[in-house]
Amino acid sequence: MIPKILRLFAAFALCLSSSIAEEEKPLKVLIITGGCCHDYKFQSAAMVDGIGQLTKAEFTVVNEGGKRTMGKIALYDDPEWAKPYDCVIHNECFASTTDADYIRKITSAHKGGAPAVVVHCAMHTYRDAKIDDWREFLGVSSLRHDHQSNYPVKVEAADHAVMKDFPANWTTPKDELYIIEKIWPKTTVLATSKSEEDGKEYPVIWTNDYHGTRVAGTTYGHTNEAFEDPVFIKILANAVTWAAGK
Ligand SMILES: [Zn+2]
Repeated sequence: MIPKILRLFAAFALCLSSSIAEEEKPLKVLIITGGCCHDYKFQSAAMVDGIGQLTKAEFTVVNEGGKRTMGKIALYDDPEWAKPYDCVIHNECFASTTDADYIRKITSAHKGGAPAVVVHCAMHTYRDAKIDDWREFLGVSSLRHDHQSNYPVKVEAADHAVMKDFPANWTTPKDELYIIEKIWPKTTVLATSKSEEDGKEYPVIWTNDYHGTRVAGTTYGHTNEAFEDPVFIKILANAVTWAAGK
């Protein structure tokens, strides 16, 4: 007969070891990138390195589809493409791809529960498409951007996990401000910047509830300088951790 105190101790030790194992399990993060206008090789490496220093994570980078505004990524042909991952970072740029069936291969995986972080040109990806599925997934609709500048960022929701440790006064490295035409109903705006062209404030960091799936986004991330900025990388790391629900 094992004394009760020993049984209690064994139960406690088991509980402790399983919670440590749980804590130490790295997040599986998929970075999908490619297309027009940006240095995706550099940006992907900077995310792997920078986010990896802040969050325990294993990264898979899929850089496909060429360097033009029209392209497709073969990964999406597998209906289970998002299944192995805790979070998908979309940093691709295919404004001219309009194939509705193809777009829905992506959004259906997210509708099915795959959390996402959407960065910069993801917001102009499938811009020419007639269907709104991708834009509903993003949580914002954008068709164009303001000129490159150093944009001050105003925090709108300081208490949100994505904004953790965000400085009160941060100005972006040289970047593009995306003009947001529509904020979708399930979107929560976390930070804004003011356009130097029309004087209006536009969301630059937000979250979206996409049919119960967590999505976090930022329209910044045009230049390599952005990906070298510790504040920008911290936003992405916070976004990944929040979206993955950890
Ligand atoms: Zn850009």
